[in-house]
Amino acid sequence: MNKMLLKFSAISQNEAFARTSVAAFILPLSPTLSEINDIKTAVSEAVTNAVVHAYPNRIGDVELSCWYDVDEVHIIVKDYGVGIDNVKLALEPYFSTKKEEERSGIGFTVMSTFMDAVKVDSNVNQGVRVHMTKCLSKNKE
Ligand code: ATP
Ligand code: MG
Repeated sequence: MNKMLLKFSAISQNEAFARTSVAAFILPLSPTLSEINDIKTAVSEAVTNAVVHAYPNRIGDVELSCWYDVDEVHIIVKDYGVGIDNVKLALEPYFSTKKEEERSGIGFTVMSTFMDAVKVDSNVNQGVRVHMTKCLSKNKE
């Protein structure tokens, strides 16, 4: 088992930092390029959500933890912002509370498409926790 924990400000320039850090951390597992890209895309969406939605009036924190055991990678993206009152609805494709700001509402759908499992927990005014899992292929050519 190997693990890491990062804490950074919820600002957009940290989206690239977050996805690149996770990619670097899992490199010892020799992921395929497509696995790396899937994970980077999912991390980007989760961190972007914290940046865009979690803190309307201040710059809060994002916690990114990642661990792996053999070929299973776990990533948790957590914020302490406004939270989501109806998680089931928020997970629906094309649901967005920021449609007027050109958001399409597909962030969670993208995470689910590129990862093997995505679990979202939230309490209003306490924040959001997104737990994503990806099983890497065992046999690489
Ligand atoms: P897109 O990701 O396509 O730009 P989006 O961010 O609105 O649009 P999703 O990522 O699927 O779409 O999120 C759906 C909705 O869930 C958001 O519109 C927002 O209301 C809510 N949400 C998601 N993440 C958070 C968060 N970290 N804090 C508060 N609300 C969130
Ligand atoms: Mg989003």
